[in-house]
Amino acid sequence: MPVRRCAGCRRPDTVAGLVRVAVAADGTLVVDARRRLPGRGLNVHPLARCVERALQPRPLARALRIPSAPDTAALAARVLAAAPPTAAPPTAGAPTAAPPPAGAGGPVS
Ligand SMILES: [Zn+2]
Repeated sequence: MPVRRCAGCRRPDTVAGLVRVAVAADGTLVVDARRRLPGRGLNVHPLARCVERALQPRPLARALRIPSAPDTAALAARVLAAAPPTAAPPTAGAPTAAPPPAGAGGPVS
Protein backbone atom coordinates (compact mmCIF):
# COMPACT_ATOMS: atom_id res chain seq x y z
CA MET A 1 0.00 0.00 0.00
CA PRO A 2 1.61 3.27 -1.08
CA VAL A 3 2.08 5.95 1.51
CA ARG A 4 1.47 9.66 0.91
CA ARG A 5 1.70 12.70 3.10
CA CYS A 6 -1.43 14.57 4.13
CA ALA A 7 -1.31 18.20 3.01
CA GLY A 8 -3.19 19.20 6.14
CA CYS A 9 -1.56 17.53 9.12
CA ARG A 10 1.65 16.59 7.24
CA ARG A 11 1.51 13.06 8.55
CA PRO A 12 2.14 10.19 6.17
CA ASP A 13 -0.63 7.68 5.71
CA THR A 14 -1.56 4.93 3.31
CA VAL A 15 -3.44 6.08 0.24
CA ALA A 16 -6.51 4.22 1.49
CA GLY A 17 -6.87 6.74 4.27
CA LEU A 18 -6.32 9.79 2.11
CA VAL A 19 -8.31 11.56 -0.59
CA ARG A 20 -6.44 12.75 -3.66
CA VAL A 21 -7.21 16.17 -5.08
CA ALA A 22 -5.97 16.73 -8.61
CA VAL A 23 -5.77 19.64 -11.01
CA ALA A 24 -8.08 18.97 -13.93
CA ALA A 25 -7.24 19.92 -17.49
CA ASP A 26 -9.17 23.17 -17.17
CA GLY A 27 -7.29 24.21 -14.04
CA THR A 28 -10.03 23.45 -11.57
CA LEU A 29 -9.53 21.16 -8.62
CA VAL A 30 -11.33 17.86 -8.52
CA VAL A 31 -11.50 14.94 -6.14
CA ASP A 32 -9.60 12.12 -7.78
CA ALA A 33 -11.54 9.30 -6.22
CA ARG A 34 -9.85 6.64 -8.33
CA ARG A 35 -6.42 8.22 -8.01
CA ARG A 36 -5.95 8.00 -11.74
CA LEU A 37 -5.79 11.59 -12.89
CA PRO A 38 -2.39 12.63 -14.17
CA GLY A 39 -0.54 15.73 -13.13
CA ARG A 40 -0.30 17.73 -9.98
CA GLY A 41 -2.33 17.05 -6.93
CA LEU A 42 -2.30 16.63 -3.22
CA ASN A 43 -3.46 14.13 -0.67
CA VAL A 44 -5.47 14.99 2.39
CA HIS A 45 -7.26 13.13 5.12
CA PRO A 46 -11.05 13.42 4.72
CA LEU A 47 -11.21 15.13 8.09
CA ALA A 48 -12.41 18.66 8.67
CA ARG A 49 -9.24 19.73 10.45
CA CYS A 50 -6.98 18.42 7.70
CA VAL A 51 -9.14 19.80 4.91
CA GLU A 52 -9.23 23.23 6.50
CA ARG A 53 -5.47 23.37 6.70
CA ALA A 54 -4.80 21.86 3.30
CA LEU A 55 -7.35 23.73 1.23
CA GLN A 56 -6.48 27.35 1.78
CA PRO A 57 -7.03 29.03 -1.57
CA ARG A 58 -3.89 31.07 -2.05
CA PRO A 59 -1.27 28.63 -0.73
CA LEU A 60 -3.06 25.92 -2.63
CA ALA A 61 -3.02 27.88 -5.87
CA ARG A 62 0.69 28.52 -5.43
CA ALA A 63 1.52 24.93 -4.53
CA LEU A 64 -0.38 23.51 -7.46
CA ARG A 65 0.57 26.32 -9.84
CA ILE A 66 -2.92 27.25 -10.84
CA PRO A 67 -3.55 30.84 -11.89
CA SER A 68 -6.51 31.74 -9.72
CA ALA A 69 -7.55 30.84 -6.19
CA PRO A 70 -9.76 27.78 -6.32
CA ASP A 71 -13.22 27.44 -4.85
CA THR A 72 -12.05 25.56 -1.83
CA ALA A 73 -15.37 25.59 0.01
CA ALA A 74 -17.02 23.42 -2.60
CA LEU A 75 -13.90 21.31 -2.91
CA ALA A 76 -13.71 20.74 0.84
CA ALA A 77 -17.26 19.46 0.86
CA ARG A 78 -16.45 17.04 -1.92
CA VAL A 79 -13.30 15.83 -0.16
CA LEU A 80 -15.23 15.16 3.03
CA ALA A 81 -17.94 13.38 1.06
CA ALA A 82 -15.33 11.25 -0.67
CA ALA A 83 -14.08 9.70 2.53
CA PRO A 84 -13.00 6.19 1.71
CA PRO A 85 -14.77 3.52 3.72
CA THR A 86 -11.55 2.49 5.40
CA ALA A 87 -11.22 5.96 6.90
CA ALA A 88 -14.47 5.68 8.82
CA PRO A 89 -13.97 5.49 12.54
CA PRO A 90 -14.49 1.96 13.82
CA THR A 91 -17.37 2.76 16.10
CA ALA A 92 -20.94 2.21 14.98
CA GLY A 93 -21.85 -1.41 14.58
CA ALA A 94 -18.46 -2.69 15.64
CA PRO A 95 -18.59 -5.56 18.06
CA THR A 96 -17.68 -4.44 21.49
CA ALA A 97 -14.84 -6.05 23.33
CA ALA A 98 -15.82 -8.61 25.85
CA PRO A 99 -16.04 -7.13 29.32
CA PRO A 100 -13.63 -8.44 31.92
CA PRO A 101 -15.03 -11.45 33.71
CA ALA A 102 -16.91 -10.42 36.78
CA GLY A 103 -15.62 -11.68 40.00
CA ALA A 104 -12.41 -13.04 38.52
CA GLY A 105 -10.26 -10.20 39.74
CA GLY A 106 -10.92 -7.56 42.29
CA PRO A 107 -8.90 -6.49 45.25
CA VAL A 108 -7.28 -9.33 47.08
CA SER A 109 -7.21 -8.90 50.79
ZN1 LIG B 1 -4.23 14.83 7.81
